[in-house]
Amino acid sequence: MNFELTPQQKQIQLKVRDFCTRELAPRAQQNDLKETFAWEAVEGLKKHGLLGIPFPKEYGGQNLDMVSYCLILEEIGRVDSSVALTVESHNSLCSSHIFIAGNEEQKKKYIPRLAKGEVLGAWALTEPGAGSDASGIKTRAVQENGHWVINGSKTFTTQGSVAGVYVIFAHTSDAMNSQSISAFVAEKGTPGLQVGKVEKKMGLHASDTAQLHLTNMKLPKENLLGKPGRAFVDAMKILDAGRVGISGISIGMARGALEEGVKWVKERKKKFKIGDSPGLTSAQKFLADLATEIDAARFLMLRAAVLCDQGKPYSKEASMSKLFSGELVMKATTQAIDLFGEYGATLDCAVQRYFRDSKLYQIGEGSSQIQELIISRHLLSE
Ligand SMILES: Cc1cc2nc3c(=O)[nH]c(=O)nc-3n(C[C@H](O)[C@H](O)[C@H](O)COP(=O)(O)OP(=O)(O)OC[C@H]3O[C@@H](n4cnc5c(N)ncnc54)[C@H](O)[C@@H]3O)c2cc1C
Repeated sequence: MNFELTPQQKQIQLKVRDFCTRELAPRAQQNDLKETFAWEAVEGLKKHGLLGIPFPKEYGGQNLDMVSYCLILEEIGRVDSSVALTVESHNSLCSSHIFIAGNEEQKKKYIPRLAKGEVLGAWALTEPGAGSDASGIKTRAVQENGHWVINGSKTFTTQGSVAGVYVIFAHTSDAMNSQSISAFVAEKGTPGLQVGKVEKKMGLHASDTAQLHLTNMKLPKENLLGKPGRAFVDAMKILDAGRVGISGISIGMARGALEEGVKWVKERKKKFKIGDSPGLTSAQKFLADLATEIDAARFLMLRAAVLCDQGKPYSKEASMSKLFSGELVMKATTQAIDLFGEYGATLDCAVQRYFRDSKLYQIGEGSSQIQELIISRHLLSE
């Protein structure tokens, strides 16, 4: 067993850390308060190739492995979890779906534009009545005169109002079950594709989340991604990888909370001599426990990422990683606010932003309860 990152993994980690410190961190708090999509951050992401992380160079990507991808998301999550969600949903969900399910022509048409950041990607599965149980979607696609005609509504689509390319799920037969779900690729401006309400969320203020309305949206036959009825299986595969990436962001946020906590305690120590008493203070306990649990979460994430890179099954490990890191970041940010006291309740404190964002990370790409369900199903079938 080797706990060392490769020189290439270390190099990308340091490069992204530097980009985050110089370009993302100074704007993160302000973007959150303004509640606007972080377009200027997208320019930096493009410049550093962070919108095409896992895709081969011939498609305009960086060809990086899953371990590097997770390390990158940890670095971005540490300073700005809204921007991290843009990177994750664009790479892991929209672009990966086209890359995994698309034919060569579709990959050549869409992946280079997505990887270079000419357009942002969105992945529209969830509907008002179907989230955890995604097979319950109601959107329907029917064939008419050599086209697909799609009707339905999507909710909570990340990049919903700012994307140029959408992957959209719909049933393509009357069975209306998981085996009748297909995926389509659609471009912004397609007649019948209308952006609805842009959600005002408790957190992730600089990430765009919108409803989509599909009214007789007409797509050419060749916009079907993969085989009809195959998209649910593809989506589950995509979510496995997505969940490991989400763990990276949660770990980054917990690390951000820890670093803020260390700074705070050091300053208070100068004034009040805390940490000098022979007994363990609650601040010391918080810092020690959090540092230990962050390392545990990172090991779970790296195990899942390594299995993915080795082409081995990692669905259970991905869920364990998301469950643990999601619960950790919620606990870490809650306790960090306790540590800061009244300062923690002000909008000046960075950790209150992480605290609000954490809750959304616990829900997105499968809530903690759904991760528990997946893990227990694996255990009971082994
Ligand atoms: C920040 C964010 C970004 C998102 N981005 C996207 C996106 O880009 N594309 C997209 O398609 N979707 C997106 N989503 C939607 C997300 O995938 C769903 O919110 C998630 O799957 C949960 O579905 P739901 O909100 O409908 O909750 P529900 O499924 O209604 O669940 C409500 C509660 O019931 C619990 N529950 C449900 N079923 C069970 C069960 N069987 N056993 C035990 N408990 C259960 C859940 O854990 C949850 O606590 C995003 C969500 C968030 C928060």
